Amino acid sequence: MRIAMIGTGYVGLVSGACFADFGHDVTCVDKDEKKIAALHRGEIPIYEPGLDELVATNVKAKRLDFTADLSKPVADADAVFIAVGTPSRRGDGHADLSYVYAAAREIAQSLSGFTVVVTKSTVPVGTGDEVERIIRETNPAADVVVASNPEFLREGAAIRDFKYPDRVVVGTSDERGRKVMGDVYRPLSLNQAPLMFTARRTAEMIKYAANAFLATKITFINEIADLSEKVGADVQEVARGIGLDNRIGTKFLHAGPGFGGSCFPKDTKALIKIAQDYDVNLRIVEAVLAVNENRKRAMARKVSQALGGSLRGKTIAVLGLTFKPDTDDMRDAPSIPLVTGLIDMGATVKAFDPVGMEQAKGELPNITYCEDAYSCAQGADALVIVTEWVQFRALDLGRLKATMTQPVVVDLRNVYRPEDMEAAGFTYESIGRPPVQ
Ligand code: NAD
Repeated sequence: MRIAMIGTGYVGLVSGACFADFGHDVTCVDKDEKKIAALHRGEIPIYEPGLDELVATNVKAKRLDFTADLSKPVADADAVFIAVGTPSRRGDGHADLSYVYAAAREIAQSLSGFTVVVTKSTVPVGTGDEVERIIRETNPAADVVVASNPEFLREGAAIRDFKYPDRVVVGTSDERGRKVMGDVYRPLSLNQAPLMFTARRTAEMIKYAANAFLATKITFINEIADLSEKVGADVQEVARGIGLDNRIGTKFLHAGPGFGGSCFPKDTKALIKIAQDYDVNLRIVEAVLAVNENRKRAMARKVSQALGGSLRGKTIAVLGLTFKPDTDDMRDAPSIPLVTGLIDMGATVKAFDPVGMEQAKGELPNITYCEDAYSCAQGADALVIVTEWVQFRALDLGRLKATMTQPVVVDLRNVYRPEDMEAAGFTYESIGRPPVQ
């Protein structure tokens, strides 16, 4: 199959490289010429484990190429994927579809022969209808089917998620469309690939419902963590105790500083807006979003409380800035409201992140960036673990304590055991776990 991938970001580059690895002939297109030039030089513009090797292998095998001009790859393609961004629209929280519609218009002008145009970006229900209308208006002669194929990969584990998905959802009722999409995903499995065909609008809905459900699960355990702290229960054991029930499942029950990242905040907001447009109340999702926003702000207060209620003149060391480990993505990271809150309360902030510091500098310009965890902790009144990078999971506690002004650790990811921290002489606060008796 010949595939054109429009948008070469976290989703487009991973999907394009994986499709090429399946044996398809893929061209990744991006408007950002710097990104394309970097890819031509063999540089990967994002941090995603294993992606550099996957891209290099497939470029070498001549199955993967990059360009800023979509006309030829679109004309040649059996399937054109739209994987451009759909950020929150400034002001109202609706998904901003301007990049998707612009891409549809550009694609329409170059279509040639039968082509399936597939929306991989996360888009509100009904966007496929509008993409189809734009294409037919721009190029009435085009022989095209517009399908939805939402993406469920997680940054940090994107290649694995793409190659071994729980399911692939394809939304189209058109037989020719189903055939092409079946061929695109057939190499996923020797047996039957976990493909679910459904109607286009249903596929669009599935993506938002999935993200809203996962955001709800995280927010639920975060609230249970708050209660656990007050009543003297251990939320990690509560999560295990409920998660071993198959109806609940163990995943997404890790209490922390609130969800962030490039998807959950914007997608829950967009889902609420879609519902409002249809006069439907999604009260659970609204509550999830509100609880999560409050929680992110509350984390700075938690640090302040650990230091006796005032941060004025204090130095705080922050470990981890990206919204999760194994990515450089800073979009909507919980570290942003946390650090901003610490500064507002009068603290000086030092930080270290294994790969996210370049991205973080744009969001958080007024802090000191350090070389490693220990130089970050040096002279600090408290150390806050915000992202559970593997580099922070076995720190030398003696060395850490010796370098800090006060031995206070606020662990927002429950990386350490309270009894170990107490034995090492730290005042230790975590999420939803009782203090050592
Ligand atoms: P991104 O910002 O990393 O990448 C989008 C790319 O599209 C950018 O490089 C941009 O330059 C390019 N672009 C925009 N308009 C273009 C055009 N007309 N022609 C060519 N290129 C164009 O975004 P992302 O994180 O990859 O997300 C893409 C979509 O996938 C979003 O809708 C997102 O919600 C969804 N999604 C993301 C993830 C994730 O983990 N990042 C997971 C599942 C779904």
